Amino acid sequence: MPVSLLGAAEIRRLAADLDVTPTKKLGQNFVVDANTVRKIVHAARVTASDRVVEIGPGLGSLTLAILETGASVVAVEIDHRLAERLPTTAAAHDVPEGRLEVIDADALRVEELPGEPSVLVANLPYNVSVPVLLHFLETFPYLQRGVVMVQAEVGERLAAPPGSKVYGAPSVKAAWYGSWRLAGTVSRQVFWPVPNVDSVLVAFDRDAEPRGTEEHRRRTFQIVDAAFQQRRKMLRQALAGVLGGTAAEASERLQAVGVDPTLRGEQLTVDDYARIAAV
Ligand code: SAM
Repeated sequence: MPVSLLGAAEIRRLAADLDVTPTKKLGQNFVVDANTVRKIVHAARVTASDRVVEIGPGLGSLTLAILETGASVVAVEIDHRLAERLPTTAAAHDVPEGRLEVIDADALRVEELPGEPSVLVANLPYNVSVPVLLHFLETFPYLQRGVVMVQAEVGERLAAPPGSKVYGAPSVKAAWYGSWRLAGTVSRQVFWPVPNVDSVLVAFDRDAEPRGTEEHRRRTFQIVDAAFQQRRKMLRQALAGVLGGTAAEASERLQAVGVDPTLRGEQLTVDDYARIAAV
């Protein structure tokens, strides 16, 4: 029997049954439209041989769409009531035994994932979307690619190239791990409750080789944070503190790695930042 998807009426019934009133605090906007969850799974190119991790499965709309492809899923959900119910919902929708594992935990604190999933698919809780993404990329090197739904501003920032208006610390940090691109827009009307922000899909592919060691990454991120904390200042001023010297000393160090000290943080690529951090 093929896996069947959740309909809007069933989602509301499940929520009522569990006494779940969606909360802003946990970013609970549930997708109630089968076309949208299929679109996300399609954008992520999920196939039967994939092992997928989903963050925040909620009542299971996206989870079932992933499982419909034949893939296996490990899902991390912070809301105990939702985490507890998900296996029952999956069984009622003809998901074969053993294809879904649910971890009842805060995704920001998860340190291991059973079966080393290589694909991330999620409709992320919007209040923690960037920290959760960066935590997953840092902690699970076997994650190779993914598609996530996020608030439009966040998605645009993640995929922004240097020099663009929305390029910021999250853009550089995300680029440390791989390449990012916008992969579609999603109407507000497919959510319950309807959010007051627009949403987009963002896709990523991890680079074939890691860009540097953990220590190098940490140092790079420190420099990125310093550059964007004072984004209107020239780098020689913005980075003086974090490079441990005066503006003149910062200038010297920047020039030594081929970076113009009069530029601003938003003009540098992740490679530039990594070079500054490597000195
Ligand atoms: N995937 C479902 C869907 O598309 O309908 C729900 C998406 S909803 C935007 C976000 C989900 O993430 C909620 O189920 C919420 O309880 C869960 N969540 C919020 N913060 C979380 C965290 N720190 N770790 C794990 N799950 C979290």
